[in-house]
Amino acid sequence: MTGTEPAAVQRIDTTKPHPARVYDWYLGGKDNYPVDEALGRQIASLSGDAPRAARANRWFMNRATRQLVANAGIRQFLDIGTGIPTEPNLHQIAQQVATDARVVYVDNDPIVLAHAGALLRGTEEGVTEYIEADVREPRTILEQAGRILDFDRPVALSLIALMHFVAAEDGAYDLVDTLVGALAPGSALVLSAMTADFEPENVRRGIEAYAAGGVTLVARTRDEFGRFFKGLDVLEPGIVSVKDWRPELAVNEAPDPAAGPVSLYGAVGIKS
Ligand code: SAH
Repeated sequence: MTGTEPAAVQRIDTTKPHPARVYDWYLGGKDNYPVDEALGRQIASLSGDAPRAARANRWFMNRATRQLVANAGIRQFLDIGTGIPTEPNLHQIAQQVATDARVVYVDNDPIVLAHAGALLRGTEEGVTEYIEADVREPRTILEQAGRILDFDRPVALSLIALMHFVAAEDGAYDLVDTLVGALAPGSALVLSAMTADFEPENVRRGIEAYAAGGVTLVARTRDEFGRFFKGLDVLEPGIVSVKDWRPELAVNEAPDPAAGPVSLYGAVGIKS
């Protein structure tokens, strides 16, 4: 964990773009390198929507998390594909409502590990932990997270802006099934992922630009996205652009000056 920071820093490859750092650039963060900014700028020039989509996605995480703590009584969170810390982080949102909330963060990029210190400053009553692991190894994640979270009680599993980096051929649906299968009744799945349903041409060009940078991205149709929620009760308003997921729950959100959806679907499902 934090003791491994220097080793994590040495493992940061600044010669090719990394999704976590390109996303950080969209959000106006400082933890990105020229290769990341170059790809970010290229995508933004293809579609001015990428930074807007990243911001809308953060706000979706914010609303969904707050809603699960405040209304569904969930006190435990497993957030995989955490990203470089961007305030407010998930544990800050959850622990603001319930100071005893327990949050486990997971990412496979060493740059996130290098910044994990910012993810570990939670409340005294709650717990925040960081695990370096790959979502394609769900059993490893469950085993390690099980030391901190009680899987006999509800857990919110957040896979936010993560699953578009994992293709169906790489086991995207199976791994989500494995993770959700380990959760107790009353648990939640919060998931957002890219779609080409709204802006097919821009998204196609974006995928090509990422591919040229060595990063695989998958766009999913609404039906393909819906497969992640198989067997779960999807909360209202169902599967929508993250921007349109319960906007009435917004707290302190910067207004989005543009009209129309952003190219990420989002939904929240509950396990019964
Ligand atoms: N969830 C955050 C960050 C999204 S950026 C948010 O929505 O704001 C996507 C993150 O997923 C990056 O930090 C990237 O490093 C991570 N990621 C990509 N592939 C991964 C994998 N196979 N396993 C774990 N994390 C992964």
